[in-house]
Amino acid sequence: MAVDTPARIVVIGAGPIGLEASLYARFLGYDVDILERGGVAGHVRKWGHVRMFTPFRANSSPLGLAALTAQDADYAAPPADAMLTGDEWVERYLEPLARTDLLEDNLHLGVEALSVARSGFEKADRSSADDRAESTLRVVCRNSEGREREYLADVVIDTSGTQSSPNWAGQGGPAVGEHGLRSHIEYGLPDVLGRDRQRYANRRVLLVGSDFTAAVTLLALAKLSGEAPETRVHWLSMSGSVGQQTAEQASIVEQARAAAESSERVDHLADTFLLDVARDASTGVFAVRFDGEKSGAGEFDEVIANAGYRPDHELYRELQVFQDCYADCAAAPVRMKRLLGDEDGGPIPPSEILVQAEPHFYVLGAKSRGRDSSFVFSEGLEQIRSLFALIGDRANLDLYAGARGLLP
Ligand SMILES: Cc1cc2nc3c(=O)[nH]c(=O)nc-3n(C[C@H](O)[C@H](O)[C@H](O)COP(=O)(O)OP(=O)(O)OC[C@H]3O[C@@H](n4cnc5c(N)ncnc54)[C@H](O)[C@@H]3O)c2cc1C
Repeated sequence: MAVDTPARIVVIGAGPIGLEASLYARFLGYDVDILERGGVAGHVRKWGHVRMFTPFRANSSPLGLAALTAQDADYAAPPADAMLTGDEWVERYLEPLARTDLLEDNLHLGVEALSVARSGFEKADRSSADDRAESTLRVVCRNSEGREREYLADVVIDTSGTQSSPNWAGQGGPAVGEHGLRSHIEYGLPDVLGRDRQRYANRRVLLVGSDFTAAVTLLALAKLSGEAPETRVHWLSMSGSVGQQTAEQASIVEQARAAAESSERVDHLADTFLLDVARDASTGVFAVRFDGEKSGAGEFDEVIANAGYRPDHELYRELQVFQDCYADCAAAPVRMKRLLGDEDGGPIPPSEILVQAEPHFYVLGAKSRGRDSSFVFSEGLEQIRSLFALIGDRANLDLYAGARGLLP
């Protein structure tokens, strides 16, 4: 369904893909409101100390670079092959981009989207998609002072990512005792060698997780144990629990396995999962039991769970959106048919995979892949290009190709 300009687009989340989608929309003449719960690229900031596994050329768009250069002739982009940390990516590209004239006035920081709904239509309403498309989408949000308001939009793009909802540390769900200890377990990627060093140096640390984020933490803990020799690390991982990974991510996991094997201060319990966890409130010591390839029990000063992330569906609960029960993400009707085995065939075109049952509501970026952690920025740019070709009803529309010609 085409959406002609002028039309109002609300973008939820000023992460890398939210910013790039907004920029693309502004170039095309749409009115855009970007709602961001925290600061620019708040999720990237959570792992800002980590070095990225793709070079800057894969973490920037030709349109973004063109906008930055047009804004400030002295803008010095990082070298194309630079491997930046997350913080450097934010400081040298994403924040300057958010400050360009095209985006700055459209950006509402400290504004959390709470719910997206269709004006005048209940979720259970059986009206056709064409009828629903006639009315606007309503985004109710809350600012940092607790005040709520709504934004009305012709199109809503949810790029709110997944990092606010970490997966449980137990096998296929929470370990016994984990619910009550959520605030004591570290679910993020701590800066073990920097800001958070005191918390982990010379302590007994349990790390749970199998994908590349756990591997990133393990590599840092292994290095720390070389510098602070009383540090002891137990790493629980399950080989079957890792979804798709990029080659770079798989290589980080391999490096972590090798580091664990060569360190006497790291004990890697492969194919072993967390069974239950308790914590003594007076000493802060965790008592855990584990099972699987190895079974046993142990006491730890800190527990880190890096078991991946899952999307928060609450935001669009009032809309008519199918869910992929495997990847746990919004699923286009065409993808639902495949999942249910009603239809087979070749790859689904990118434009079709973005179309939800609810008209003019789209999920892009890391959230579009659900629990699968292999999403990369370049995939997001392809989603953006496909989406605006779709809503502009111009199959060949590609602002990135045009912008490439403007770059030095
Ligand atoms: C350790 C690590 C290293 C990585 N390295 C790379 C790499 O080298 N290359 C690569 O391509 N990718 C890498 N990634 C993946 C990277 O995170 C994604 O490519 C990118 O951040 C996805 O951007 P996004 O905009 O989809 O989501 P996010 O970055 O998750 O941004 C979502 C934004 O939405 C905001 N938000 C959330 N909920 C709401 C709400 N309700 N209302 C308003 N705002 C909200 C958040 O605050 C956040 O700013 C890495 C990830 C990790 C964890």
